[in-house]
Amino acid sequence: RGASLTDFAEKIGVDAASLVQVLFHLGEMVTATQSVNDETLQILGEELNYDVQVVSPEDEDRELLESFALGFGEDEGADEDMAPRPPVVTVMGHVDHGKTKLLDALRNANVVAKEAGGITQSIGAYQVTTEVDGQERAITFIDTPGHEAFTAMRARGAQATDIAVLVVAADDGVMPQTVEALNHAQAAGVPVVVAVNKVDKPDADPSKARGQLTEYGLVPEEYGGDTMFVDVSAKAGTGLDSLLESIVLTADAELDLRANPDQNAEGLAIEAHLDRGRGAVATVIVQRGTLRVGDTLVAGSAFGRVRALLDEFGNNIEEAPPSRPALVLGLTAVPGAGDNFMVVDDDRIARQIAEKREARERNAALAKRSGRRTLEDLMREVEQGETTELLLILKGDSSGSVEALEDSLSQIDVGDEVDLRVIDRGVGAITEANVNLAAASNAVIVGYNVRAQGKATELADREGVQIKYYSVIYQAIEEIEASLKGMLKPEF
Ligand code: GDP
Repeated sequence: RGASLTDFAEKIGVDAASLVQVLFHLGEMVTATQSVNDETLQILGEELNYDVQVVSPEDEDRELLESFALGFGEDEGADEDMAPRPPVVTVMGHVDHGKTKLLDALRNANVVAKEAGGITQSIGAYQVTTEVDGQERAITFIDTPGHEAFTAMRARGAQATDIAVLVVAADDGVMPQTVEALNHAQAAGVPVVVAVNKVDKPDADPSKARGQLTEYGLVPEEYGGDTMFVDVSAKAGTGLDSLLESIVLTADAELDLRANPDQNAEGLAIEAHLDRGRGAVATVIVQRGTLRVGDTLVAGSAFGRVRALLDEFGNNIEEAPPSRPALVLGLTAVPGAGDNFMVVDDDRIARQIAEKREARERNAALAKRSGRRTLEDLMREVEQGETTELLLILKGDSSGSVEALEDSLSQIDVGDEVDLRVIDRGVGAITEANVNLAAASNAVIVGYNVRAQGKATELADREGVQIKYYSVIYQAIEEIEASLKGMLKPEF
């Protein structure tokens, strides 16, 4: 596997020096005699318009695991192995309609929370219980309101949510983001429960919201449809039990939520950050199997042995069954929001999968950057040293904030004249590696609530790389938008 650039150049009949130049432009510094891996050869192949065979990432993981005689995405087992699991719920709706307040109210009203001392920590998700038909039922809420996080995760192929609670303020009715959220939920095939909020307000008109949503295909049960509408007041704390009950009933009616708790755990990382004292900290939601302290897991390109599992009260727990959110300590790096995780039986395999994934992500970033330009285009750009695109490297304090930033950036309307591209992103301090990449590709580094580490600042000065620091997202967006509008020569 792999080959030296000289060998590769000879095979395809080009000059090795031009390959070095192409790679340099793509942010990889290699000499002609140095050996490069298959992925890099593939990217070069694409640049040079050679037909390249691509093996799907999942196949690669599976092959790797099979070579160690292990299953990937283990069979869930026989029907009798399956047990009911709680629904995982995302709260969506128009801004200011009370999503955050509702999530807080549900969390605080929960009996378990009170018994545990009442102090929940924000780990990105929490579980509440409610009694339905004399049975104790659990519901998991994802703590990031809005459809942006939901959609960002879906874009990565991850579906964390079973049911969406659509919040509509009774005094305001259906608004643009209400419809947007509804579209996202429907596109994902996720059933919706409507929480008609703020019914405590004097000008509340809960029937208006019902009528409006009927036009969008959400027909209330009381009108003969099959969508449950519940009047609530997040402020006064009314209707919360009915809402929880409606979620459970909707799950029972429309979904068959079951998972095998007796297998190696698999699921999703929904939030992660670097903690000063505890290192990489990730919140995961288990989708099948049971996650236990001492398990070895791979999450995105991070891996490690679970040193501790914490629940949303900060209590140590020994295990997390299906649908349980838990904070995982012990990973070597910070996974991205929406990365899937799985437990493997062998540390060595965990490391190998993680390393492979990391290489793949790096190369995907390279490939994205190289776009569909031809070698000639690249050469000309390199020579003339001019470009009409703004390349950014984003670093932030959590995967959620980095994603939010990238999401907002992608929504800036810059027309056809200039191009904004994020060529790399990550959680943690700005490193020399970031600066090197920025220098090689003429990118600007954006630090959101993080600083430069070690000699990174010095290196940036030397290389003429600009690092911009922000602690407020909209400020970052405003400045970047302004500099794009003023482009050709950004004042940045
Ligand atoms: P979000 O943008 O959807 O997360 O909305 P928030 O939860 O931040 O709520 C927006 C505003 O509406 C805040 O000032 C809340 O205090 C207020 N609010 C939320 N729920 C209720 C409610 O049930 N009744 C009343 N009167 N105000 C509410």
